[in-house]
Amino acid sequence: NEELLINSEKLYVAGQLAAGIAHEIRNPLTSLKGFLQLLASGRKDTGTYYDIMKSELTRIEGIVSEMLMLSKPQVYDLSYHDVRSSMRETVTLLETQAILHSIMIETDFGPDPLWVYGVENQVKQVFINVIKNAIEAMIDGGAIRVRMRRVDDTVQIRISDEGPGIGETQLSKMGQPFYTTKDKGTGLGLMVSYKIVDNHQGNIQVDSQLGSGTTFEITFPFRYPETNSVKKSG
Ligand code: ADP
Ligand code: MG
Repeated sequence: NEELLINSEKLYVAGQLAAGIAHEIRNPLTSLKGFLQLLASGRKDTGTYYDIMKSELTRIEGIVSEMLMLSKPQVYDLSYHDVRSSMRETVTLLETQAILHSIMIETDFGPDPLWVYGVENQVKQVFINVIKNAIEAMIDGGAIRVRMRRVDDTVQIRISDEGPGIGETQLSKMGQPFYTTKDKGTGLGLMVSYKIVDNHQGNIQVDSQLGSGTTFEITFPFRYPETNSVKKSG
């Protein structure tokens, strides 16, 4: 039942986006075709064509991979899982990229298991998208702080960065399909993340101001494993 719900949501989003995606992909394709014609006409490339063509291809690639995320006929493996593991894996995955940008990722997961019921890969995708944005925002380096706690019947995840912050106008556009301020952005990461969190009966909030950093607060219902014989700690 819950699976059906996730599936129909997914179809809805995909349908809604089809026109937008086609448009977003056609632009770089048109540009690629133009440069190919220039090269075919015998014009010499001083390196500029190559750079532009490569960045257009990267853009298409980015759009396609994020769309695959949505449309994968992937098994929706619903499970009770401790989101501390998903976060640990995410941090490991992104650490190299962070270090390259002089960024430290500090984690504080607390002592207790943080049980969530849902699709583990999708939840992990949300963590990846948000932390990746934080890394990309912090051009001068600094610290990203990840704090996770159980708060009453929810699992609360706070991700803070020391980036430039987000102004009000920008804040209201975030999560809209294809809204990006990056040259090579897709503007799909947050939209996908909001959708996933919503499908998990969770909540996501952004607290930010220009000049100070940004904090994403994600909450999921705390769902103790029913079929599991693990005893509540404490
Ligand atoms: P993309 O990363 O491809 O641009 P996203 O949907 O992930 O797409 O993010 C949309 C936009 O939201 C970004 O382009 C950026 O302007 C803004 N944004 C998201 N996270 C942050 C952050 N931590 N700090 C500053 N801006 C952010
Ligand atoms: Mg992003």
